[in-house]
Amino acid sequence: MSTHEAWSLVCRLFAGGTPVFRGALSPAEIVACATLGPAIKPTVINRTFTLCPYCQLHSGQIFGDGQGGQICQCPDCGPIPLAADDRAAVRLDETWLKLKMRIALEIESRDGVTDLGDGVWRLGEARREPVLLSRCLSRLWADPSLFDRVRVAGAGIRVIAPRAAQMRGAPFASGVEWLPLEERFTFYGGGIAYIPSGVSPEAVAADDPRTPVYGPFSADFRWVTLSDRPEPIHCSEGQAAVFGALWGFKGQQVKAEAIMSRAGLSSDKPSDLFKVRPRDKGKPQYEAQHHAYEVLVECHKREGLYWMPCASPNLASA
Ligand SMILES: [Zn+2]
Repeated sequence: MSTHEAWSLVCRLFAGGTPVFRGALSPAEIVACATLGPAIKPTVINRTFTLCPYCQLHSGQIFGDGQGGQICQCPDCGPIPLAADDRAAVRLDETWLKLKMRIALEIESRDGVTDLGDGVWRLGEARREPVLLSRCLSRLWADPSLFDRVRVAGAGIRVIAPRAAQMRGAPFASGVEWLPLEERFTFYGGGIAYIPSGVSPEAVAADDPRTPVYGPFSADFRWVTLSDRPEPIHCSEGQAAVFGALWGFKGQQVKAEAIMSRAGLSSDKPSDLFKVRPRDKGKPQYEAQHHAYEVLVECHKREGLYWMPCASPNLASA
């Protein structure tokens, strides 16, 4: 049994944030559960539906069989008798994870772990640097104001989060260091060990042009990766120019003219490029582009000021 498999299971359960049926675990993962000991807790997934014990692909509604037992009504297999442990599931003890993470990073601050909501926690400060644990990177891209809530003047911020699909390069502006959960930590001696050096999070040339390089944006700003979309959003050249210009202003509030001139566009204001024209209503690509703008760009309408919070350098200026 390798510790690698044990740690992979921890990462998978943390990223998912929900229990997993025992029946859906691989034989190696079943062994990993035992290896992980108190980090993994047995649980039971809700009593209305269960994973079909026969195909282990579909969920079926649970019914009584009239003789004191239960059946799973699988959409594919039909009624399948349920054994007592077919609803058995495992979950990660996230309190264990946070506690062992604090030990691994030598976080000794007296204040405990703070829940910042929606899968982000402040674990404490390691050598004066705040450390955040996040279930996904995109949660922080969507709400970079979380950094303001934990920032300490003159110190960087470290973010522990699972690797996003196809993620390359540095996910955050300078001052925020990302520690990929899968690579910079491992299960060791019943706890968690921090792997210090690791891979440099500097942006590297990406094989996939959609790969996020500047925050949620690809190197050419044509692609935006957001947590609530399964695929990166493809933007027009004009939209990419607006995003690139806003990124260049590092989250400062600026007039529309300044953005449009930096983007080299003749429209009056950034939002013009993200309007969904009546004939494009309901077309996923246009709706998605509009959505990306809504999520990432802020504006004071009255003053005509625009800014992109995720582009803020996250170091308090001296
Ligand atoms: Zn089935």
